[in-house]
Amino acid sequence: MKKKQFTSTILHADREGRPEHGVLHKPIHTSVAYGYEDARELAEVFQNKRQGYAYGRQNNPTIDALANKITLMEQGLASVIFASGMAAIGSTILSLLRSGDHIVSSAFLFGNTNSLFNTLTSLGIEITFVDATDVANVEAAIRPNTKLVFVETIANPVTQVADLSAIGDLCEKQKLIYFVDNTMTSPCLFLPVDVKASLIINSLTKYIGGHGNALGGSVTDTGLYDWSSFDNIYDNYKNKDSAQWGITQIRKKGLRDFGAALAPEAAHHISVGSDTLNLRIRHACENALAIAELCDQHPKVKKVSYPGLPAHPQHDRARELFKHFGAILSIELEDNIDCFDFLNSLELIVSSSNLGDNRSLGIPVAHTIYFEMGPERRTSMGIPDSMVRFSIGIEDKEDLIADFNQALGT
Ligand SMILES: *Cc1c(COP(=O)(O)O)cnc(C)c1O
Repeated sequence: MKKKQFTSTILHADREGRPEHGVLHKPIHTSVAYGYEDARELAEVFQNKRQGYAYGRQNNPTIDALANKITLMEQGLASVIFASGMAAIGSTILSLLRSGDHIVSSAFLFGNTNSLFNTLTSLGIEITFVDATDVANVEAAIRPNTKLVFVETIANPVTQVADLSAIGDLCEKQKLIYFVDNTMTSPCLFLPVDVKASLIINSLTKYIGGHGNALGGSVTDTGLYDWSSFDNIYDNYKNKDSAQWGITQIRKKGLRDFGAALAPEAAHHISVGSDTLNLRIRHACENALAIAELCDQHPKVKKVSYPGLPAHPQHDRARELFKHFGAILSIELEDNIDCFDFLNSLELIVSSSNLGDNRSLGIPVAHTIYFEMGPERRTSMGIPDSMVRFSIGIEDKEDLIADFNQALGT
């Protein structure tokens, strides 16, 4: 049978392996520990000689079912699930890199990732931030000790689109781990494996869960990186199949030792949410384009950042790479309009820091999520004080348009 499309694949993923009673959802398994009648079997599980569960921080059947779904979505080799997107990024990098290693990262980053990378510097991991919309800047920053390149697909909040394909070619040539944050696009709009990503992180809290009712994160190994050429794999994890080395080390050193395991109840929320990812994100992107066009035409709006607008610096790249242009947009209001007053005058849009929720959310970024980094770094990221970021949801388009029109004044 022909390979199934996104939604058909995800909807039926839990039925693989004929689960008990013919259940259509993987059950929520809450047991932390697993008992064995033969103690030798328990030892074999510990020694990776037998498949099985030992302790909930490392494995759980409900979590495994979610990991399988994410792997299918990303068309990867295997995934590890974490308690949040930040746990996924932090635990993965700390499990793979050592003091003295160097990362080249996009300068346009989710605020907490930026903060995390600054923490890594104090642990002896060097970071160079570059404008990743041009591969030449990434290439110029590479040093003999560079191990990893980190980019987001569409960056927060100015919506720059990284030079994703060319950076993939560069990382392949230079044998660098190419770590792509796919949160803003989700595997529905973009498959990082197509641009030769080695590892993909998704914040499951955002579009994949979609309902704003559970935190979660995932790391997927695409199978493209040759771990046998990587210096930092511990001997313990060098089993027969070198394709498994990276994900094994992330699971053991990252998830097991740092311990940011997702609760099975949260995995169930995320899994149910992901059933409708494709339907939701298409609708949200359509709404976002309409709002971006409305704001772009409006005299009270100085600037709109949205990859779907032809004037966006990476519009053509976004068109080529992504199925839709995403559901995040940022606007700068004219100088005489206060961004707080404007947000307060919107009725449907909630002032809130999340993104990728079904509900439309707005936030004054310089005063909130990008406050801690200070004015200098904000300027380097192109974030003025008046900027408002919107995560457009799945409300009815007419109602969103009406709300922006009443708040801006027609
Ligand atoms: C939200 C977000 C994260 C972090 O995810 P959490 O689940 O909130 O920890 C990482 N990267 C991007 C691009 C995000 O939007």
